[in-house]
Amino acid sequence: MDTIVTRFPPSPTGHLHIGGARTALFNWLYARHTGGKFILRLEDTDTERSTEQSATGIIESLKWLGIDWDEGPYYQSQRLDLYNTYIEKLIESGHAYYCTCSAERLKNMRERAIAEGRNPSYDGTCRDRNLPPSKDAVVRFRTPDVGTTVLNDVVKGSIAFDNQEIGDFIIRRSDGMPTYNLAVVVDDIDMGINTIIRGDDHVTNTPRQIMLYQALGSELPVFAHVPMVLGSDRSRLSKRHGAMSVLEYRDMGYLPDGLVNALVRLGWSHGDREYFTKDELIELFSLEHIGKSAGVFDPAKLLAINAEHIKNSPPEKLAPHLLPFLKEKGYNANDDKYLHGVIKTLTLRSKTLREMADKAAFYYEEPLSYDSAATKKFLTPQNLEVLELVAEKLGKLESMAEEPQQKAFKEVMDKTGLKFGKIAQPVRVALTGRTESPGIFETIEALGKQKVMQRLNTAIEMIKKGQ
Ligand code: GLU
Repeated sequence: MDTIVTRFPPSPTGHLHIGGARTALFNWLYARHTGGKFILRLEDTDTERSTEQSATGIIESLKWLGIDWDEGPYYQSQRLDLYNTYIEKLIESGHAYYCTCSAERLKNMRERAIAEGRNPSYDGTCRDRNLPPSKDAVVRFRTPDVGTTVLNDVVKGSIAFDNQEIGDFIIRRSDGMPTYNLAVVVDDIDMGINTIIRGDDHVTNTPRQIMLYQALGSELPVFAHVPMVLGSDRSRLSKRHGAMSVLEYRDMGYLPDGLVNALVRLGWSHGDREYFTKDELIELFSLEHIGKSAGVFDPAKLLAINAEHIKNSPPEKLAPHLLPFLKEKGYNANDDKYLHGVIKTLTLRSKTLREMADKAAFYYEEPLSYDSAATKKFLTPQNLEVLELVAEKLGKLESMAEEPQQKAFKEVMDKTGLKFGKIAQPVRVALTGRTESPGIFETIEALGKQKVMQRLNTAIEMIKKGQ
């Protein structure tokens, strides 16, 4: 079989949204799964709505998701000569012609047709006039008068479109710009795209595109039209359902692999499995398992999947993703070893990186902030002896690993006759300023001896001074 070549051709008119990211992901996964090629192309011929800023944002989103491309980004606005060459070819071969019908005439024609219950597509006025090029002329494609155009879709099956219904559509506007259908087909032919996976809102465009392929004598690509993504109320996913853009999810503290996992499940399945790493997806992804029913985007499910990815990621992998959130809080988190230790204590307790950064506060705060209720309850004269004893025992340890710590606590328990909890809780407040934290041994190990001793001594001083 030929090498699979897929593409992602967003129009840079806004952010990369959940639906677009899902399309990009499917094309990328299919290329990676088959050892093929994935091309990025920005469809920016709509000069009024396309912006450089959107293009940059889309590229940033893809990079963050870990979706890389083998060619591009190509910009359609830089390829106008190519489209014109193809349009000339179509005119020469009789597949296209100039049309000078005014917007007003077309509007009247359409309204009349609708009122009379007829097909409102172009009535063919200029079809056989053999008009020369002129300033205001558009170029139309001559669609076949009879018969059907059949889309054999991998997901939808076979769909036949009545050619007569389609009518002669515009391929170049009067301002000289190619239309979407023309540019997309020319690019897909020119770039050797042989597999097109996209949202099923493009199904109605496809017969026009198939006609263009046929007129240009090119082989058809494989089409896979994926049902649109829905929100929890089963209406088309929109802002109403919550955050839409990929970068918003990044900024909320999602891991790219967590979002990728949630995205892939919007229309693709592998049995009833929910959790996938990127490598597993590359290994397993196939077009056959794209479903016919729409995927529902559920933020709660994304959160749960993200928590799983956090849980299963080693600290070295999480660290670069967590760092921006720590920096945002003004923490100095440049010590990698310390950071990895911190992360280890929080992976089971954080569903997002933002939550993890919040929970990491006590590791980085200088000076440590104390919750006043916790201080009042636990940093009391009655607990002074316990804290002094713990400081003495821990002070003698060389390593802050769990085992020697356990021994030290045991000695304090024996000496004071207190239960573990009665000792651990004042120690926790002394070390973290709060009554809740990761397990005390983990916390001590991650903080390291220097910070532990310093914080225990501060707490002891606070009690002595009656603060
Ligand atoms: N630029 C089009 C879009 O963003 C591309 C559609 C296609 O995949 O052909 O919807």
